[in-house]
Amino acid sequence: MTRDRQLAYLQAMDIQVWQVRHAPVIEEAVADVVEPVPAEAEAPPAPATQEPAGNTATIPPATPVGPVVADMGWSQLQETVRDCRLCELHESRMHTVFGTGNRNADWLVIGEAPGKDEDLQGEPFVGRAGQLLNAMLQATGLQREQVYIANILKCRPPNNRDPGTEEVQCCSDYLARQIALVNPTVILAVGRIAAQNLLGTDTPIGKLRGKVHHFGETGIPVIATYHPAYLLRSPLEKRKAWQDLQLAVATGKACQP
Ligand code: SF4
Repeated sequence: MTRDRQLAYLQAMDIQVWQVRHAPVIEEAVADVVEPVPAEAEAPPAPATQEPAGNTATIPPATPVGPVVADMGWSQLQETVRDCRLCELHESRMHTVFGTGNRNADWLVIGEAPGKDEDLQGEPFVGRAGQLLNAMLQATGLQREQVYIANILKCRPPNNRDPGTEEVQCCSDYLARQIALVNPTVILAVGRIAAQNLLGTDTPIGKLRGKVHHFGETGIPVIATYHPAYLLRSPLEKRKAWQDLQLAVATGKACQP
């Protein structure tokens, strides 16, 4: 990707780049990022996540894939999720949100759960938060179609509340099977709920980001970052998210054969 294109995507993320006259590399330019003051109109009406808060539900890391789904291929897994009634969320969903993207991707992006738009469309990360995620990926040189995107939960919790412990446990085998099938070089855990549940911890997201973690026994590197919905409300944190993406890029490259 050319530097101009990369700068354009950073600007799409609302990251204002101050360019030093004799610093041609993107990393140096981004180091001088100055965040714009958020406009009132930027704030989304219904926050989907409360990033800095403590955890409310976590599961042990690397939950073993249950015998029911352990041997499933993509088609059977997707059908099983579509018909799933393991937890009460099936009662209020419009669609299950299985996941989307390149099933052989190097990057697996994992979010929290479907919101209103995702529930309506059956696809993860659509709407404004999805557009920002796309811009974040593009800033690293990746198109949305090049990564695989999934959520901890496949059905929308009512009113975008946090996933319950039981719901996460019911749904965990599906995600574990998706991780096994994609077998990515790096997992980008997007948001507090995703990071805490993947890593089996209640450590705040601010302390999880900036380090390379690993997903259970698989050893797949996990990089935690803020949820785009949170970044829309807190644009000052976009610089940190960009640093997380750079860490994910470096980690992914280091893990490639
Ligand atoms: S959230 Fe997961 S476990 Fe619950 S009904 Fe949906 S697919 Fe099944």
